[in-house]
Amino acid sequence: MIYDVIVVGSGFSAIAVTCNLIEQLPASATVAVVGDDPGFGRGTAYRTELYLHRLNVPAGRMSLMPHQPDDFVDWLKNRGRRLQAGDFASRSDYGLYVRDTLAQLLRKRDGRCRVDFIRAKAAGCVERYNSTLAFHLGNGDEIAGRNVVLCLGVGNANLPIDPAGVSLSVRSRIVENPWRLSWLRRVASSDTVCILGSGLTMIDQVLALRAHGYRGRIDVLSRRGLAPLGHAKTSPAPLPIDVEALPGTISGILKSLREKSRAVDDWRSVMDGLRPQTHVLWRRLSSKERARFLRHALPWWNIHRHRVAPDVFDRFDQLVSEGTVRFHAGFLKSLEAEEGRLVAGYRVRATRDLAAIKADWLINCTGMERAGISHSPLLKEMSRSQLIAADPLGLGIQVDAASEVIGSSRISPVRLFAVGALTAGQFWEITAVPDIRVQARAVVEEIVAQRPAAEA
Ligand SMILES: Cc1cc2nc3c(=O)[nH]c(=O)nc-3n(C[C@H](O)[C@H](O)[C@H](O)COP(=O)(O)OP(=O)(O)OC[C@H]3O[C@@H](n4cnc5c(N)ncnc54)[C@H](O)[C@@H]3O)c2cc1C
Repeated sequence: MIYDVIVVGSGFSAIAVTCNLIEQLPASATVAVVGDDPGFGRGTAYRTELYLHRLNVPAGRMSLMPHQPDDFVDWLKNRGRRLQAGDFASRSDYGLYVRDTLAQLLRKRDGRCRVDFIRAKAAGCVERYNSTLAFHLGNGDEIAGRNVVLCLGVGNANLPIDPAGVSLSVRSRIVENPWRLSWLRRVASSDTVCILGSGLTMIDQVLALRAHGYRGRIDVLSRRGLAPLGHAKTSPAPLPIDVEALPGTISGILKSLREKSRAVDDWRSVMDGLRPQTHVLWRRLSSKERARFLRHALPWWNIHRHRVAPDVFDRFDQLVSEGTVRFHAGFLKSLEAEEGRLVAGYRVRATRDLAAIKADWLINCTGMERAGISHSPLLKEMSRSQLIAADPLGLGIQVDAASEVIGSSRISPVRLFAVGALTAGQFWEITAVPDIRVQARAVVEEIVAQRPAAEA
């Protein structure tokens, strides 16, 4: 079957694109959504069942549709949740909201385009007779489309070191993907835990361990030993920032932002002023400066920009103050087993000293892949057949300002787009809902605009 639009993926980006397609396409149009995740719309982020896994963006900015800003807050109210626009809802509620929004749109039968949800992995892609792109699916089927939107997200980052030398019995206590939360039930309260990585995933897992009754020590190893900061209890007003007036180098920009931060009561107002303009700022940087940002400034950017809900931060900070959570800054060098325990050997940051953490469990919280293409067999194949090209800095695939894959004009009239973290090379900050929802709508508007007038 040849679809007007194929959406590949099953996380938030895919569902945001699908909802906009349903709103904007005529009844004659056909859409296929191909995803391998059973919880369409939930992805890794919103699949969790734990209430303490909270959104890190206030509810008032999490509506799925940018043109209906109060939608999520209204949904929370209708569900009897006592939360305001400035509060931080649970991620499980958000997953339900995304699914409810989709279900509501699908219930409208009159004038709605056809949408087929296909539970399968897209395994390969070829160009067919210059007029469609065809996907081979893991279930053996093949589907073709005139417009394609890739919404593949990014995979969980691999352990920085292959634990091949560790015996199997001990290796079963290395949790490579912490988002499969079943591992929590296997941790005894007398065990010791070492977490690799100190970002948002680490905080989530520490709190999940506590919720499961774990009361032991948690050692956290990361290159800089920096942990995310918290949102203010009352958010300060964003500081208006003229990004065009900022210097063109990373060191110059940081200097200017530090000066601005010193001049306000709360540094968060500077980050929040910059936030909606990050795309513009990124576009102004040369590739050399972008590489410099990724090499030197990224960990600092992350902890200031991707903040946690205030009460989540307080709870975590308490564990750090009482010594339950301890940070180590260094570079993981070895993973071995000794007397039935795991030994993570590391070089202490800024020294040549070697140190080790011994623990019963090692949890990989190094986060999400930096959107390369190596995690995805589909993207690797599309790159080999020159349907896509990898971003030179490893930030996904090359797209233009309209999120259309660069070079895909060669396969005209087929149009190939990408949404979400895969487009980080063009937009940089494109992993959170407030950015993805705008991108998803813009892509759909682009697709709808180019349909022949008789069909529109
Ligand atoms: C733990 C966590 C918490 C977060 N919290 C927030 C928050 O509070 N607020 C916020 O705004 N953002 C948050 N984010 C950012 C979040 O990533 C985005 O909001 C959004 O979930 C990204 O969705 P996505 O669809 O682009 O990617 P994903 O959710 O990764 O979904 C991609 C989907 O595509 C599927 N897929 C991949 N390859 C194929 C293939 N070949 N064939 C078929 N299907 C395929 C995958 O199985 C997956 O289901 C959080 C992220 C994480 C990981």
